[in-house]
Amino acid sequence: MRNEAAHKIWSFAVIRVTVAVVWLAATAWAAVPNVVLITLDTVRADRMGFLGSRRGLTPNLDALALRSVVFTRAYSQVPLTTASHATILTGTYPQYHKVNDFQVPLGDDLPYTPQILQSAGYSTAAFVASIVLDPKQQFARGFDRGFDTYDAGFKDWKPPLDRYQTRERRAGAVVSRALAWLNRRPKGPFFLWVHLYDAHYPYDPPPPYKSKYASAPYDGEIAYADAQLAKLLAALRARGLFENSVIAVMADHGEALGDHGEDTHGIFLYDETIHVPLMIKMPGEAFAGKRIENRVGLVDVAPTLLRAAGVAAPKEIQGQSLLGMIQPEAAHGSSSSESPQARPVYSETDYPRVAFGWSSLRALRSGKYLYVEAPKSELYDEAADSKEEHNLYATSIGVASTLAGQLTDLRQKTTSAREIPKQNLDPLAQAKLAALGYVASGSNDIKGAAAGQGADPKDKIETGNQLHKANYLIESQRFQEAIPLLQRLIAKEPETPLAYAQLGNCLLATKKYGETVPVLRKLVELNPDPPVPHFELAIALLATDDIPAAVTELQSVVEKVPKWTSARLMLATAYFQTNHMREAVTECEIVLETAPDLYEALILEGRALVASHHYEAALPKLQKAAMLQPTDPEPHSLLAEAYGKLERKTEAAQELANAKRLEAKSAK
Ligand SMILES: [Zn+2]
Repeated sequence: MRNEAAHKIWSFAVIRVTVAVVWLAATAWAAVPNVVLITLDTVRADRMGFLGSRRGLTPNLDALALRSVVFTRAYSQVPLTTASHATILTGTYPQYHKVNDFQVPLGDDLPYTPQILQSAGYSTAAFVASIVLDPKQQFARGFDRGFDTYDAGFKDWKPPLDRYQTRERRAGAVVSRALAWLNRRPKGPFFLWVHLYDAHYPYDPPPPYKSKYASAPYDGEIAYADAQLAKLLAALRARGLFENSVIAVMADHGEALGDHGEDTHGIFLYDETIHVPLMIKMPGEAFAGKRIENRVGLVDVAPTLLRAAGVAAPKEIQGQSLLGMIQPEAAHGSSSSESPQARPVYSETDYPRVAFGWSSLRALRSGKYLYVEAPKSELYDEAADSKEEHNLYATSIGVASTLAGQLTDLRQKTTSAREIPKQNLDPLAQAKLAALGYVASGSNDIKGAAAGQGADPKDKIETGNQLHKANYLIESQRFQEAIPLLQRLIAKEPETPLAYAQLGNCLLATKKYGETVPVLRKLVELNPDPPVPHFELAIALLATDDIPAAVTELQSVVEKVPKWTSARLMLATAYFQTNHMREAVTECEIVLETAPDLYEALILEGRALVASHHYEAALPKLQKAAMLQPTDPEPHSLLAEAYGKLERKTEAAQELANAKRLEAKSAK
């Protein structure tokens, strides 16, 4: 009996242990939270209801804020989409990851949140809304690392497509694709990044926001994005995923809307583009409604998300987990003892230098001050002057130099020795980007425009605004409107390479070749290194029958970029047209080494060989060309000519008949 009782007790214990193990396993599983990262492009902090806006644009974000920890003083490290997302996703400063422009690839040795979470067993997906975050379009190369799904997919702009299939997607489209993924995602925890680009210029909200916000379309875009976001949050709730997800919402940067004279963003480092909304909903809504007044940076987002997911952050990450601020009693290190707002936050922008050849800017927000390092540096007392209108630099040299020292110190400690990859972009892709209006990096290495040199962007902001407008018009294929704008700009600022590059593109696109030549000549004189302008100049020269000058340009292009097939073929054509048959053949042969089945090279070489009486050598080229394009009569008529000269009359007659048959067919 005793044994039986003991056995019973023992089995009961087994059951209890088993139940406990199963329960523990279940909670351990549940404790691995999903991570949802929502980045709202170009959204100013002062438009958020949860940050004090009375405009009523963000009811859904405001509701989420009540369940989240809100960071009232969050700052972007760089006011550019690709660069700021690099900081958000790597937890490193721009001076470390070096993605200072949309064409600079993200180094594959950088710590990268999606890859870290993927290695920890997360399924990972990104849904982005702008071509500048599409790695397949040469903009954000390397950003798809660690993502099982990276949904971008922008098409070339051809009728009847419009901006919303080719350049950006509206929030509705992005969210619905993310929801489709939520339905089919694999089991287990997931990392989902949703990027909404609506608030970015042009401000063009869909109905009914278009009419409701007719006088404030930027606000309309934010209200629209907020409403779409509600669908994503509702879907997470409906699938039981809301509770156990970390949901982080932030803007990559703000928008100036004319403040300090800037129309959009990228050039200045004032609050309108650097102060951003940031909130983090913790699993189980822990610390819901908590508001953190300390300054924080977007560089802190990655380590926070990793810590919340229970995944170790690599030591290269430079931001600090914000969980210490959220839960000070559990914090390690010094952050808990810091007084609110004490933490300095660094920001920078290389865009004025990279795009325009002006000086880069750097800024430090420390104590109550904003210090901006520029050719003419600035200092603002943000406590007394929240709009940063009264520059105290001249009267508070002591404070300014203290902050300058802090800035230099922080920068030195956080800068990596990695090189900015230069000119490694496929020139064909570069030419395509130039045609889209994105020529900024083409002038990446403008002479004499190292950091700290060049004009003060404050003195040039109107030029920046105009070039931005031109960029938008070109991107929208509105060349006729861009041309006079750029001509006026050049008359005022004749040493601006970007203006010549943009004008050259517009003139080429509208086939005004004669006018293109002097514009691109000036551009290559100002900035001789990038190959694309030489290539474009050659196109204009060929079109205006200045073939010798085109040959000179194309020779310099193929010297810079030996594997640029279209440049070599164009050079071969120019040689052919000027009766330099041997040179034409040589260029074709170089192309055929890497692309042996390229019809254009075969037929051109065949033409050049026939024209220079090398009939025997022409035969294999032309036969292969005929095989590759069986409906084209030209290889056959050239073959007929070659066979005729070689006295191979039967074959000549046969090829002539082939050519005539195909000509008749194509005439139908
Ligand atoms: Zn952006």
